Amino acid sequence: MAADRPKGILSTVGDTPLVELERIAPHHDFRVHAKIERFNPGGSIKDRSALGMLLERIRSGALVPGTSTVVESSSGNLAIGLAQICCYYGLRFICVVDARTTEQNLAILRAYRAEVEIVTEPDPATGEYLPARLRRVAELAATVPHAYVPDQYANPRNPRTHRETTMREIDRAMGGDVDYLFVAAGTTGTLGGCAAYIRERGMATTVVAVDAVGSVLFDSPVSCPRLIPGHGASVAPALLDRTAADRVVHISDLESVAGCRRLVRREAILAGGSSGAVVAALGKLAPEIPAGASCVLILPDGGDRYLDTVYSDAWVRRHFGDIDLDTVIDPDFEPDLDPDIKETVPC
Ligand code: PMP
Repeated sequence: MAADRPKGILSTVGDTPLVELERIAPHHDFRVHAKIERFNPGGSIKDRSALGMLLERIRSGALVPGTSTVVESSSGNLAIGLAQICCYYGLRFICVVDARTTEQNLAILRAYRAEVEIVTEPDPATGEYLPARLRRVAELAATVPHAYVPDQYANPRNPRTHRETTMREIDRAMGGDVDYLFVAAGTTGTLGGCAAYIRERGMATTVVAVDAVGSVLFDSPVSCPRLIPGHGASVAPALLDRTAADRVVHISDLESVAGCRRLVRREAILAGGSSGAVVAALGKLAPEIPAGASCVLILPDGGDRYLDTVYSDAWVRRHFGDIDLDTVIDPDFEPDLDPDIKETVPC
């Protein structure tokens, strides 16, 4: 993207800061850096995917302001990234969301002038919203003239943008010294793109996929609903290539909360739920990471959109009971709350 940078606010997508975290794992002798993706203008790593999927088509004239309509199913970060780009280029954007989308995200989408379609009934066969949302996208694609569906779950430009930007930036900033890369997996765009870069360059990096307990991506030990959006998936994306991950760590919702709270307390970084999962995954692998090793965590978004959930003590107690957050969160960085995940993990 660098040689071919878009203009205006979109020129600030990517090149996010990589900061050293000296306090997150004080009893371990490995080094930790974090790529802080909230610094993208739409607030998350998905700005990169959105730009990767739209820019070429805008430049080639395949998407025409005033004529083309972008239609996508997303209720979170990708939706906001697409809304921002469509707003900048004057493209109509219809965003298909579901009843669980937060009021704040709906307000942000509308502020960027997106049209929001809310699917209110889940798919009767599976009880999941995603198949119902995808059906509505297909209907719109068939009826709205000049509609384009980026399809983040199948579009190779989604991983490609991470191969060309996210992992390249990390490699350059670290001078090639990355022993462990921790990546939250949803569409698996970030995971697949970063892993492709690493393999192409022959880097000796262990790629750690961070999945949610209850997700279908990497054979979760249990199947259960998930409360925290971002990582994990209820339908396997077409992009999914399990060989991209050298290691897989499954993180429960409570562990994600604990990881987020730890990140704030130790490093003053207010990050989203999947970032907490990445921190929890580092904690789980910590005993086996050798002294001197270099770990990089990708933190996909900021915590501002999670104030009513992850950062609300009342929300945490409602879902996980009357736990003592202080002991759960920060005893001494081994935040493995569920040693035997199969039996004890709360869904
Ligand atoms: N974390 C957050 C907060 C996200 O919004 C997403 C995208 N769903 C992910 C992680 C996963 O990224 P990817 O889609 O590239 O796998």
